[in-house]
Formats: sequence, C-alpha cells, structure tokens
Amino acid sequence: MAGCQKICGAQLHELLESKHNVLFDCDGVIWNGETAMAGAPEVVRALKQRGKRVFFVTNNCTRPRQSYVQKFARLGFADVDENEIFSSAYCSAAYLRDVVSFTGKVFAIGCPGVHTELRDAGITVIEDEEDAPDVNISNCALDPDVRAVLVGYDEKFSFMKLAKACCYLQDSECLFLATDPDPWHPLRGGRITPGSGSLTAALETASRRKATVIGKPSRFMFECIASQFDLDPESSLMVGDRLETDIVFGVNCGLSTVLTLTGVSTFEQAQVYKDSDEPEKKDFVPDYVVESIADFLEALEE
Ligand code: PLP
Ligand code: CA
Repeated sequence: MAGCQKICGAQLHELLESKHNVLFDCDGVIWNGETAMAGAPEVVRALKQRGKRVFFVTNNCTRPRQSYVQKFARLGFADVDENEIFSSAYCSAAYLRDVVSFTGKVFAIGCPGVHTELRDAGITVIEDEEDAPDVNISNCALDPDVRAVLVGYDEKFSFMKLAKACCYLQDSECLFLATDPDPWHPLRGGRITPGSGSLTAALETASRRKATVIGKPSRFMFECIASQFDLDPESSLMVGDRLETDIVFGVNCGLSTVLTLTGVSTFEQAQVYKDSDEPEKKDFVPDYVVESIADFLEALEE
C-alpha cells in the first residue's frame, strides 16, 4: 500500500512543484518553542519567492494572531502576514461569528489568546475572576446569558471552572466547543504538559456531552482558510509532525500530507498505522515523510 514514503531531492522537488499551497503546522515543524527549526525561515521565503502560498495552521490557542506575527518576526521569518496564520483560537472565534452567527456570552476555559480572539471577533466572553473563599459550586453566580462553553489550553484550569462549565452545559442549547484535541505537548527535558484535549475530556465526562472540535484534525480550519483564500485541496500540501492531528487533518481535507520527524510522531509510529489491519488507521498514514523542513530547501534548489 502506498504512503509513508521517505522523500527528498528530486522527488520532493517534483511534489512541491505540483502544489500551489503549503500548509505548515507550527510547533515541531516551523519551530520548537522559541527556537526556529533550522532552515525554516529560508524555506518559507523560498516557497513564497516561487509563487507558492503559505499558511500556518496551529492548534496552539495561547496567542492571538498579532502575537504570532511578532513571534515569526522574532524568530527570523520575514514578512509573515497575520492573514496567513490560522490558530485554533482564531478559528474558534471565526466559527462562532461566521458559522453559527453567535449571540450571547461565551464561558471560556482558556488563556489570553482565546479571550483576545473572541473579543476581536466581537464576541462577549466572560472574564475569569477568582471566586471568594466562601464561594463553591452550590452558591456561585452563573450568567444566564452564557450560550457557549469553549475549552482551550488553560494553565489556570480549576475545579470551579470545570464545575461552572458543567452547569452551563446542562442546558442542551448551550454550545460546547473545544479549540483543539491535543492530549499533551512535549516540554524541554522530557517533561510533558497536558493539552486542551485533556481538559476537554474532563468536561465531556462531567457534562456527558461531546465537544465540537475546531482545530486539527477537524476540517474547519481548512474551511476557514478556504473561505478567505481560493484554496483547492488538490493543489495543497499539509506538513505536520503529529499523525493524529496534522496528518488526519490533511486526509480529512483531501490534501497531500508530509510528516516531518522533528516533532512528536516517529517514522515507526507511522509504519505501525500503515501496517494496521484496521481500515480507519489508514487516515493516520502520511503520504510522505521528510527528516526536517530543511529538506525542502535542498529540494527547492534542485
Ligand atoms: N497547544 C499548546 C498549548 C501548545 O503548547 C502546542 C505546542 O506547543 C500546541 C497546541 C500544538 O501546536 P501546533 O499545532 O502548532 O503543533
Ligand atoms: Ca505540531
């Protein structure tokens, strides 16, 4: 069966020649935390110089788009425009504004990136205020105008936030959204941090409801890009480092997929999916595998 093909040089050159749009995951592909991946700024520049359109598709909801623009500049990526950046926080706000024409207030478990994007989209978000010591889930105030709960990465996640969100979700009309399903993220020194998916799972269990996921692997992020740019799946390539989000996203959207080995997933894990007898595991198999985004540079110069 095709897929999982290690690719470089002339073959990679041919693949890039055949695509007009390149969608890059950020963490693990474009950068690792605050360090640009070797060759990444040059790759982005070279693709643009060749007339390709480049988009950045990240499940990281912690920053608003403007802060991503600053990060790109700080890490040496010249001229990355706000309009090229699609984060799960931005797309969550776009979903509420453009897809469901949301009115009402959002109870957001999340960080400043989520709050800022919601506000920038004209959506009212409830401020997270610390409760007085004598306040508990039986006597805390709930806002009757809350019509949606949005869960994202939140380092200040608490029992009270979980409990309040659960109360809001008892109303079946209240929307339940998650920025992304990422279960955990690697940190330096071998540690990991729980991702939005872990927090969402807690709320799904408590509320007995399922969240609508906005970020990868949901198709919505691609639809969000396609609604602003004329984007044809056939001429688009998705480059990511996590099989369960980036590669499944590419497959869900009909894109060709490339796994880079500079992040979460390994070639061996991709092979296990490829060799699986379960047909649904095929969605986790990348079309191509490269060691790193730096391989693109060499291929472009072929
Ligand atoms: N969410 C958080 C909080 C993260 O820290 C990260 C990666 O570091 C991500 C999501 C995944 O981001 P990406 O989709 O760019 O890999
Ligand atoms: Ca990633």
